[in-house]
Amino acid sequence: MNEAADLLIVGAGLGGLAAALACARQAPGLRGVDLVEQAAALQEVGAGIQCGPNMTRRWRSWDLMAPLRDLAHAPGAVVARDAASGRELGRLDTRDFEARYGAPYLTVHRADLQAALAASVAQVSDRARLMLGTRIKTFSSHGDEIHAEAAPLSEPLRARLLMGADGLRSAVRSRFWPDVRVPDTGELAWRGMVPMHDLPERLRRPEVQAWLGPRMHVVSYPVRGGEWLNVAAFTEQHGPLPTADEEGHGAWAGEGRLSDLLQATGPVCTPLAETLAALPALRRWRVHARAPLRGVSDMHLRADSPIALLGDAAHPMQPYLAQGAGMALEDADALAQALAAHGATPTALARYAQQRWQRNAQVQARAARNGRIFHAAGPLRLARNLALGVRPQLMDLP
Ligand code: FAD
Repeated sequence: MNEAADLLIVGAGLGGLAAALACARQAPGLRGVDLVEQAAALQEVGAGIQCGPNMTRRWRSWDLMAPLRDLAHAPGAVVARDAASGRELGRLDTRDFEARYGAPYLTVHRADLQAALAASVAQVSDRARLMLGTRIKTFSSHGDEIHAEAAPLSEPLRARLLMGADGLRSAVRSRFWPDVRVPDTGELAWRGMVPMHDLPERLRRPEVQAWLGPRMHVVSYPVRGGEWLNVAAFTEQHGPLPTADEEGHGAWAGEGRLSDLLQATGPVCTPLAETLAALPALRRWRVHARAPLRGVSDMHLRADSPIALLGDAAHPMQPYLAQGAGMALEDADALAQALAAHGATPTALARYAQQRWQRNAQVQARAARNGRIFHAAGPLRLARNLALGVRPQLMDLP
């Protein structure tokens, strides 16, 4: 029979990889971390993410800055624009984030961040074991151990602690928190990428641009060292929704059509229309979010429980503050600190959950509020535009 690991992490997305890396590096007393991922190979969706200083500070402490140096992009500013006129509404300078927050504001392709995390986990393989192509099916308690049945393994995986980092449709959450609902918000997200050299010079902007319109917004920014433009559009008007089949297990939907996107956005200014039309392919899926966490128990079952949640499994949120992965990395850091202080014990998970739930709840609420501000219509929109001119911190990061 396998030896019991101290910690079994389900899911090797950005959150699970970060948790395995942080625990192996920061809690050297751990006997072993098992990280299981159902996918046969690590594959991130072809899209970018914005990385606030709360995230890049962790990159630095986990030695990820060097591998990401040529892949991340420093946009220098976040610029809010009116989607219909293209007029600049507000500008948040991010060049001084290093001085203000102790870490930079960067954008990166998700696959580049995932690859850097996976390479760093491989460097600590004596303490953290990544098992690809391994799907957790059921769990059971045996004294002070958790046993997890996993396909295609013939024997259960054994561990003292279980961390569900298995995303929006978490199997760990469904098993131990069966009443939690993660509703469809009624919004659609659309994403695509285009090589910069395929865009006319006038559309090659280095900044993060947020194009705000009634009941929609579009965010665009460079990734891969500035060589690709990443574009994400968010619309409240449904148009044809992806079917459950299209959504698949990972919640990434099927193809999107430009004509459906433009129908959902309504009229947009020429630079934005040209940018959207330049995308060679679009993917589209439903946005899901859980209501802000109400207490420790939303991330942790009982005071003496060896089971907890991390990242989107715990606190899926609307992507309007660009902080879902940021919170997953903060969770990972807090988990490692709790394990270093309390060993592989339920007390460590209780400390972790106590430290994290309020911060995650605040960010979930701020993400939802940003959606209301970004998508404002009528008189609220005019007030929002005025406010952005004098206080661009509305777009600031926590
Ligand atoms: P996931 O990435 O979902 O990983 C879960 C993993 O668990 C998957 O690999 C899955 O295969 C695996 N798994 C599931 N079930 C099992 C099982 N039974 N057994 C084994 N493995 C299993 N965040 C930011 O910080 N900045 C941004 O700019 C940003 N932009 C976004 C834009 C959009 C449009 C969206 C939708 C999200 C955005 N986010 C952003 C949020 C961010 O993408 C997520 O919060 C983050 O990726 C969640 O990571 P995770 O590891 O918790 O979950």
